[in-house]
Amino acid sequence: MSQMQTAQAADVSQSQTNTEVFEAAAAEAKSERYVLIYLIGGMLVLTTLISNTFGLLDSLVAQIPALIGSVILAVPLFGAALGEIRKQQISSNTLASLAILAAIMSQMYAVAGSLAFILLVADQFVRRTAWGAQRAIEQLIGLTPDIARLVEEGVEREVPLEQIKVGQIVRVRPGENLPVDGVVIEGRSTINQASLTGEAVPVEVAVNDHVYAGTTNLTGGIDLRVTEVGAETTIGKVTKLIGEAEKSKTPRQLIIEQVAQFFVPVVVAVAAVTWWAMSRSEDQATKDAAVSTFVQILVVTCPTALLLASPTAMVAAFAAAARLGILIKKATYLEAAATIDTVVMDKTGTMTTGVFEVSKLVPAEGVSGADLLRAAVNGEQHSNHPLAQSILKTARAAKIDPDGSRDYEEVHGRGVRARTSIGELCVGRATWLSELNPDIKPQLADVESKIEGMTGVHVMQDGRYLGAVGLADTVRKNTKTVIERLRELGVRKIAMFTGDRVSVAKRVGVAVGIDAIEAECLPEEKHEQIRRLTKSGAKTLMVGDGINDGPSLAAAELGVAMGLSGSDIAANSAGVALMNDDLSRVPFLIELSRKARAIVTQNIAIAIFMALIGLGLATTRTLDNSFGPFLAGLYQFATGVIVIANSFRLFRFGENIAVAEESGEGEGMVRREGSIRGLRGQPA
Ligand code: ADP
Ligand code: MG
Repeated sequence: MSQMQTAQAADVSQSQTNTEVFEAAAAEAKSERYVLIYLIGGMLVLTTLISNTFGLLDSLVAQIPALIGSVILAVPLFGAALGEIRKQQISSNTLASLAILAAIMSQMYAVAGSLAFILLVADQFVRRTAWGAQRAIEQLIGLTPDIARLVEEGVEREVPLEQIKVGQIVRVRPGENLPVDGVVIEGRSTINQASLTGEAVPVEVAVNDHVYAGTTNLTGGIDLRVTEVGAETTIGKVTKLIGEAEKSKTPRQLIIEQVAQFFVPVVVAVAAVTWWAMSRSEDQATKDAAVSTFVQILVVTCPTALLLASPTAMVAAFAAAARLGILIKKATYLEAAATIDTVVMDKTGTMTTGVFEVSKLVPAEGVSGADLLRAAVNGEQHSNHPLAQSILKTARAAKIDPDGSRDYEEVHGRGVRARTSIGELCVGRATWLSELNPDIKPQLADVESKIEGMTGVHVMQDGRYLGAVGLADTVRKNTKTVIERLRELGVRKIAMFTGDRVSVAKRVGVAVGIDAIEAECLPEEKHEQIRRLTKSGAKTLMVGDGINDGPSLAAAELGVAMGLSGSDIAANSAGVALMNDDLSRVPFLIELSRKARAIVTQNIAIAIFMALIGLGLATTRTLDNSFGPFLAGLYQFATGVIVIANSFRLFRFGENIAVAEESGEGEGMVRREGSIRGLRGQPA
């Protein structure tokens, strides 16, 4: 009974489901108009019921209020049924309308009216809980204030958020939520980004750091230059993506819808045959009960609860995931996580922190260390790669400033090429540079041997080899436990794919207990390997950074992108985005998916079981003729409530993790390390 509003929507092409309830729910629940009409209809029906019970009025006159009431109450149901028929998606509303029509035509107005009333109440309930679920998600991902404090020529004034434009300066006081995405230009503070990242430990921000709308400024006043407003902000994009995810359907849901379709004519046939048989009975009592039984059968077998089985569980699971900074883009991705048997991880920034220490400068012969570092910094100045960010950080500490020129190109998985004031620079892996200029091979080999076991960033200036910066990164503290957890969950193979050198890859791989290592891969080779795994029948989950590993993330059964900023979330090809850098979200996702799957199965079983019991009650004439249909409606409603309540248990899944992290226990301690980098593009 829950699609009546959406059924009237013009979009015929999209098949109609209860998922659409969530969309219509917000608008619908706001309008109190409907409630008033339902109440008037309900009162009229009640008048007849009371008068019948006490014999107050002449029985014919007493029917009038119920007749009017039942028509008022039946109209929205009939409208919805017509919508279903037009879309060839015959479902609950059609069954209910048929039942009510039968009652009205048999002059059982009070029966028709009371049934329509309870079905409408049930529909309102479903809409409002669905609406509540969506609200819960919106609250989880934070609140953006409506008013911003605009600073112009040193003067501060409050303006509505819609008037704020990119490039303006906005001031945020301690305790306030940020209205926009921006870059800090004045002041320092700590910011709680939990609403966005699920990261309970506040991050410190100072000038040049990126900050995000919907997060909470804690300790200091800051001025920001606005970089994104409204729907363009990270939180805006997240909200939009969750909305789209809710509308998406799993294969299972599509099957349920088809079953429900097939189910409806069968139910109508059973009910009709029962009516026909009973009305021909010799026994007067059986004859009298024919219409009521027909109505009861149709009502108890409405597939409302069946259609709610999956979407309600999905919404609750999305909310549980969002609380921990996990953004699932489609219901199918959540379902895919349940059957994963192979996990592939990128090394840099995924298994390791992605914060490198510059440990060694190895200039080529006749080059000074300072010249090498200056060239590396100028080449990397605009790159977001973790290696680049680490070199830039070292440079800032050594007071080496890049020249600011912007003519550069990022060659994914290889390095960067930049035209700067000190010439054309190529900065990246050894194999790439030796392809560009084979003459430098001997020098490269010599330098490589001096940075054995470290990640090397090699520098070439106008074709001349300058040497390499040797860097080392640290394995995340929880990588090992995450891998153990994945094995407990039955993942058979855990592999590392990296573009880094074999020696580095081995060191990391052995430390965390990985099964297989593919080192010195180019992005296209990673992609090829994933495809090979998929062909061999493996259900592969790939974790990587969204920008560099795009093709691999898309090729895997399920791609999980880590630590992304707003611009990347929407564009990247992963099915799941982690708003923080915490690997432990991967086993959590698998568990959540399995739990959701189990709950959907339970819901389907509950819906079918209840329908069968209801059918038994209706056909054995256990219920009274005049109150039976109303009770059947109540029964149908109760089934829906049970299914919703069962689904909403998922809301609480993972709550303990959020709490533990907030109080700094257990994994929360580990996660501090991850919070240093925070969102990508926001170096410490
Ligand atoms: P991973 O697979 O470990 O995440 P990437 O695919 O991002 O590594 O990069 C592979 C290799 O390419 C790096 O180890 C590095 O040598 C080189 N590289 C890529 N991008 C850059 C860059 N911006 N600066 C320097 N080196 C880079
Ligand atoms: Mg990478």
